[in-house]
Amino acid sequence: MEFNLENIVRKNIWNLKPYSSARSEFDLYGSDKNELTLLDANENPKGDLNRYPDPLQSAIKEELAKQKDISPDQIFVGNGSDEAIDLLYRIFCEPGKDTVITCPPTYGMYEVSAAINDVSVLKVPLNKDFSLDLDEILKSSAFAKAKLLWICSPNNPTGNVLLKADFKHDWQAQNYTRGGMMDMPFAPEFEAEMLENQRQLDKLFGSFNGIIVVDEAYQDFTENMSFIKRLEDYPNLVVLQTMSKAHGMAGARVGFAFSSPEIIELFNRTKPPYNVNELSQKAVLEALQDEEKTKSEIQEIINNRDFLVEHLNSFDFIKEVYPSEANFVLAKVDNATQVYNYLRDKGIIIRNRSSQIEDTLRFTVGTMMECKAVITALREIKEI
Ligand SMILES: *Cc1c(COP(=O)(O)O)cnc(C)c1O
Repeated sequence: MEFNLENIVRKNIWNLKPYSSARSEFDLYGSDKNELTLLDANENPKGDLNRYPDPLQSAIKEELAKQKDISPDQIFVGNGSDEAIDLLYRIFCEPGKDTVITCPPTYGMYEVSAAINDVSVLKVPLNKDFSLDLDEILKSSAFAKAKLLWICSPNNPTGNVLLKADFKHDWQAQNYTRGGMMDMPFAPEFEAEMLENQRQLDKLFGSFNGIIVVDEAYQDFTENMSFIKRLEDYPNLVVLQTMSKAHGMAGARVGFAFSSPEIIELFNRTKPPYNVNELSQKAVLEALQDEEKTKSEIQEIINNRDFLVEHLNSFDFIKEVYPSEANFVLAKVDNATQVYNYLRDKGIIIRNRSSQIEDTLRFTVGTMMECKAVITALREIKEI
């Protein structure tokens, strides 16, 4: 079945004539500001932040396009990826009429944003081991008409990867880091697994009429390949990433959507004209350019995660520490709410996820000192 974008976009958005801001009519950002007399946007001529920011954030997109090996017109920059989540509803979902699919337990904003936009949610829960229930998704009542399918991978709050963009890459990465060769032949059983994964991806993307959103907020903490590499293959794919986690810029509120130029154009026409402020644009560009710093911080967090997991596992009242490919760890804990309250009273704030998954706590991986503080506090519990 051919994917048809026009069929799934809301009519009012498809026909929308976007607001044309002063700064989108005249592309100031490619010119030398000092050479120009700027009397087009009713700004105060003086000040540091007196000019409207670039509505299309071209400097950020140029840098990102290089890093991700895609074209700048495949990138949307938003006020956090939460803006991209909301825009996906506003572009594709008719309030009071349309349905989306989520796979709980997962990130809460998909459901909240659906409620705000008056869109119904069909839930296809993850399996007991937190894997995606692909068969159930494929045969769910809403599958044929749902506008969006939300897949968070690595998933929040469970920490595992739900969908693999490419098994072949995994195999190569593993063998490469083990000192093997990039073009090493596949083990036969591995090749079978890879082909099966590919078959499932083709089936999922090929038979879904709407948009499949892969939220990769935690992509930097896993070895798995990003779905950005599959944009060429799947026209109904939108990938979300953010500056809030690995890049340490949650305060700047900047997130991204990656997709086809046609879908990104829909984001651009629907968003508020100046959705990312000047201070954040500058800070994010600088952070992106400092790839070495980001890389070493990610490695540090991964090391701290290993430390945290190892020590959490040493407590009898911690029943299970789930494997994580993110910068947090979910654990099944006896009397989770009491443990949560106990830590809170000691000034250590973690997340109680027991309302989503019985008796579970989610620990963000902080500095080594913070990890040690949690472990020390938990040791004292044994004594009370
Ligand atoms: C933290 C998080 C985000 C990030 O949202 P921002 O608005 O970019 O800060 C997105 N998706 C998931 C699953 C998250 O956990």
